Amino acid sequence: MPVKRERTPMPVQDGERRVGNFGEVALGYLDGDVRAEAVRCLQCKTPYCEEGCPVGVPIKEFIKHLQQDDVRGAIGAIKRTNSLPAVCGRVCPQEDQCEKVCIMGKRFQPVAIGRLERFAADWERAQGFPQAAAPPPNGKKVAVVGGGPAGLTAAGQLAGKGYAVTVFEALHEPGGVLSYGIPEFRLPKTIVRWEIQQLKNLGVEIRTNVVVGKSPTLDELKAGYDAVFLGTGAGLPVFMGIPGENLIGVYSANEFLTRINLMGAASFPEVDTPVRIGTRVAVVGAGNTAMDAVRTARRVGAKEAHIVYRRSEAEMTARAEEYEHAKEEGVRFMFLTNPVRFLGDDTGRLRAVECQRMALGEPDHSGRRRPVPIAGSEFELPVDSVIMALGTSPNPLLLKGTKGLSATVRGGIRTDETGATSLPGIWAGGDAVSGAATVILAMGAGKKAAAAIDRLLSGEES
Ligand SMILES: Cc1cc2nc3c(=O)[nH]c(=O)nc-3n(C[C@H](O)[C@H](O)[C@H](O)COP(=O)(O)OP(=O)(O)OC[C@H]3O[C@@H](n4cnc5c(N)ncnc54)[C@H](O)[C@@H]3O)c2cc1C
Repeated sequence: MPVKRERTPMPVQDGERRVGNFGEVALGYLDGDVRAEAVRCLQCKTPYCEEGCPVGVPIKEFIKHLQQDDVRGAIGAIKRTNSLPAVCGRVCPQEDQCEKVCIMGKRFQPVAIGRLERFAADWERAQGFPQAAAPPPNGKKVAVVGGGPAGLTAAGQLAGKGYAVTVFEALHEPGGVLSYGIPEFRLPKTIVRWEIQQLKNLGVEIRTNVVVGKSPTLDELKAGYDAVFLGTGAGLPVFMGIPGENLIGVYSANEFLTRINLMGAASFPEVDTPVRIGTRVAVVGAGNTAMDAVRTARRVGAKEAHIVYRRSEAEMTARAEEYEHAKEEGVRFMFLTNPVRFLGDDTGRLRAVECQRMALGEPDHSGRRRPVPIAGSEFELPVDSVIMALGTSPNPLLLKGTKGLSATVRGGIRTDETGATSLPGIWAGGDAVSGAATVILAMGAGKKAAAAIDRLLSGEES
């Protein structure tokens, strides 16, 4: 088979049709696509792609298996280091990690590593192979607080070594952002549940509707376990602090997405949770969360859906694929534009956003050029609702309620490089420590902390 310079395209649902449904947008490679893409991998002597992966997936090895049509070997290699491959194959920002350093990408397009990973994981799920069973218990108990990628990874790693692991999750469904944030059209929930079921098969117990820090407190929880891992994420929405943010019709992206993804609001009145966004929606921000919010808004009735972003296209942080998909779905992008206040009607309902045009100045601390307001450029954008997707920060509940648990200056839980917090026997990782980041970084942190917990509890380190 001749090696192609350009990567093999992924079949997708048609842009116009898909805004009428929540079905997955990217449909995944078929068998022939996989072979064509796998043979593009040069099997470099030094696989830089692996250094670009926070959980160290053996990329060269798994693609070699795919080149030989050995999908079972491929998924076996991936799962040695990544317990959520179907998730990562769909949502990892590969263009900034493994694919960014792919040698093929120096002259042509990089090998589509994420798409190949997704194929191998989906193939395994479709085969229905018997999955790993729980190993013999080692007599030690670990509590994991938070059922997102950080907590689930720590849980899986420890359960695989015989620890009795219990995950305590505040919401009624585990998965963290994978369940409540990332929409069905990007990450089907059957996949998240299947990957969580693999952890349950390993013996992980998951208790939902438990907010640690309220009842029980962290101290009470710790008393019953040999170690605790905190993977509580960064679910607290950031607002702008501008006039009108309390008007009816101004949502945080987390609330909006949770209503749809976890409470089924798209099916109101068959379910109890409504969402009322009208037909003209503006989403403020341009990261992954903003793309998810605006594309979801299109699917629940927004005829006009705008992204309002104070910087330019070049500074956007959303995955390239999500940006492309949003454009195909008719989303309008207002770059170099910033809301200055929200305007309401006599009933306290939002009717418009007053925006101001921006220009790019010198780079700021993030290295991106700072947006500078253009005086006199204000204008009104008529909308029925606004969704704020400006980022999130760690919830202070555990830090405020636990004596001796130290915080970082940015409000995260302070840890050392192994994930150990200021309290003995308590580790932390993921967004709860770093602030809002990515699935794979959270998983990497969960893995690192699990290894440190194991070293201590197994007596390897005293
Ligand atoms: C809408 C959206 C889209 C995103 N898209 C992408 C993407 O495409 N690619 C990517 O890599 N990253 C993406 N991210 C970021 C990524 O999802 C997060 O970085 C990742 O989920 C962090 O994992 P975590 O386990 O640290 O926290 P979370 O996923 O936030 O999980 C934390 C869990 O802890 C629970 N919890 C919190 N406090 C308590 C408590 N006191 N007691 C018990 N449970 C508690 C929460 O309910 C939650 O289930 C996105 C984020 C959002 C919001």
